[in-house]
Amino acid sequence: MITAQAVAYSKYGEPKDVLFTHKYEIDDDNVPSDSIVVKTLGSPVNPSDINQVQGVYPSRPELTKELGTSEPAAVGGNEGLFEVIKVGSGVSQFKVGDWCVPTSVNFGTWRTHALCASEKMTKLNNPTQSKNAGKKHSLTVDQGATISVNPLTALLMLTHYVKLQPGKDWVVQNGANSAVGKFVSQIAKILGINLIGVVRDRDNLQALVDELQQEYGADKVITEEQNELRDFSNEVKSWVKETGGDVKLALNCVGGKNATALARKLGQDGLMLTYGGMSFQPVIIPTAVHIFKNVTSSGFWVTALLKNDPELKKRSLDQIVEWYENGQLKVAKSNEVKFDGSDLAKVYTDAVANSKQGKQLIVY
Ligand code: NDP
Repeated sequence: MITAQAVAYSKYGEPKDVLFTHKYEIDDDNVPSDSIVVKTLGSPVNPSDINQVQGVYPSRPELTKELGTSEPAAVGGNEGLFEVIKVGSGVSQFKVGDWCVPTSVNFGTWRTHALCASEKMTKLNNPTQSKNAGKKHSLTVDQGATISVNPLTALLMLTHYVKLQPGKDWVVQNGANSAVGKFVSQIAKILGINLIGVVRDRDNLQALVDELQQEYGADKVITEEQNELRDFSNEVKSWVKETGGDVKLALNCVGGKNATALARKLGQDGLMLTYGGMSFQPVIIPTAVHIFKNVTSSGFWVTALLKNDPELKKRSLDQIVEWYENGQLKVAKSNEVKFDGSDLAKVYTDAVANSKQGKQLIVY
């Protein structure tokens, strides 16, 4: 019998007010034939996880009494890396020691262990399997635990909507130092697409610019102030002229004036994809940009895009794994917090509170 712990909530609200630790037993000697038992290796705190607990995210897990809570509850978290520790007699696609990630969102990854139907998990190579397959690198816990949302978002936004000419065309993005932003600049580099990243000004700006350019492959990094300055557009135009392409895609996770200025950087028939709203301000596209440049604005939601297209998810996941295994892609570094066996809900509420200082990853 395994005593598992999960970070659950039975009502919506601020994570510190509603998250609680729930302990429950998993009978690992009697695993249903179609099921597996997994232990968690790592799970992050993403902005959408927090919004789910707050009850303001459109996709949410159902509240149930499945884990034996006194009130219907859900377990927090959507992403995570797991190791298979028991396999039901009818399961052929997993064996003990395999690594896996949830096949779909709303799995509830903030927990120590889970018992689930095998189809709820998708296998990834563990380090021994990568080594045996002759791969240059194997996945790290950080890479595996954060593979399902941010790298896929970056890859799909760059490849699924606009045809970009390598060496010539440009993408402009705000929130360039976010985890998604760091994947966007690296994948743009791999694909040969030029990239301008917008970040908020700060005391140690140059260190951030150096990091984004040298470690994550951004071509140009500018501040929000430069982004919003009309005169600075000439500088951008000269960069674009040099490569002979155009700014065809803008990726917006901020909104407000920042997004408006981003849209102004787009060339004829450019597309702005909005995938986040970190400033909580609306997106306003200048009228002239709409009419005379035919710039369009659209939303991007990885959950909706991949929900009905498991093939696209599989292909995208395989591509990210291949880049990690080749050493072409670096994980956007997280702040790792080791679960010490104490109160799991406290570990995640602290991580939520610290998430403004960078991505938090709980490792087990
Ligand atoms: P991170 O926690 O890694 O980064 C957050 C980013 O937001 C940082 O760059 C931060 O910059 C910036 N930011 C925060 N507040 C503001 C503000 N008021 N004005 C300008 N910038 C701000 O986030 P993720 O990479 O995990 O996610 C980034 C966004 O992408 C989120 O909105 C998330 O919900 C969204 N997302 C959407 C997906 C989709 O399918 N639609 C999928 C994945 C993510 P600073 O360092 O200056 O604080």
